Amino acid sequence: MKIPTPQQQKEAQANAHRFPSHYTYMKIAECLEAERNGPSEAVEQPKPPPIQCRECGTEMDEPDEVLRALCSNHGFVCEACEKKAEEARRLAWERRPLAPWPSLWPERAILDQENCSGEPLRLAKVIEGLLADGAMVGLIGDRGRGKTVMAAWIAQKRRERREEPGIYLRAADMFAMLRGTWDKDRDRGRHSETEQGLMSRFRECEFLVIDEIQERGLSEWENKILVNILDHRYASLLPTLIMGNLSAEDLAANLGPSISDRMAQTGGVVECNWPSLRQPGTKPYTKEQRESIQWSHCPFTSNGGLGFRGREMQLH
Ligand SMILES: [Zn+2]
Repeated sequence: MKIPTPQQQKEAQANAHRFPSHYTYMKIAECLEAERNGPSEAVEQPKPPPIQCRECGTEMDEPDEVLRALCSNHGFVCEACEKKAEEARRLAWERRPLAPWPSLWPERAILDQENCSGEPLRLAKVIEGLLADGAMVGLIGDRGRGKTVMAAWIAQKRRERREEPGIYLRAADMFAMLRGTWDKDRDRGRHSETEQGLMSRFRECEFLVIDEIQERGLSEWENKILVNILDHRYASLLPTLIMGNLSAEDLAANLGPSISDRMAQTGGVVECNWPSLRQPGTKPYTKEQRESIQWSHCPFTSNGGLGFRGREMQLH
């Protein structure tokens, strides 16, 4: 192999973009020379060996040296095998178990969803549709209209989509939990969460249901906390359902103008105006029915802390 002349070097430099990046100027000069001499006198390039699918052994030509080296180092997978693997991943995803219920969800509402039908079921479906990214929906109506059951139905749909059911809690309990963290002498074993930790859970959980909103005190502190949680959820595109036994006007007054405006923009208020569903003498649930519910050990998430998605991510 001869040393390229300065003229050949210049030419090689000008043509370098047409050749693989690891080619030396000497090699490019040779190739250019071969091109000039025409195909008849071109340097006989040995045909590169084909690359092999590591799954099925199918051979494929890959003229680019760099790609060929990459494929042989990392194992090449053909398109058919790639599709098969994709399908297997999809099936595995669908076969995942449902997320256990965070323990604050009311057992009765979970069991009662079996009987959710007619108008409550229709409206539960409407609300599920309204609960898009960052949407806030109000669900109002007198006691015994099945609001909590509708919330459980929506959470169950989330479970069936292999999503985290979300946090359910009554407004008064939410504020009591937050206040409970102020007590320095509290039992650290049972209530180890800090106020900030709890706030993060309420701001960041994938779905938040606040029930009995009419039962909260309307103090300045509670108002600030509520606005803060709901603002964060709106900004993070997380859906929230707020339920209460009050009129649309009273709900707006309870939530304050900024939140009720946002609720009107993103989701709206749904009213349960059917007669009470609670009938005297309904059969109690059997032991089997009660034991069929899968509970999480955590009041807020399906697995102690990371949430269902978090757990999936750990498995991979
Ligand atoms: Zn293959």
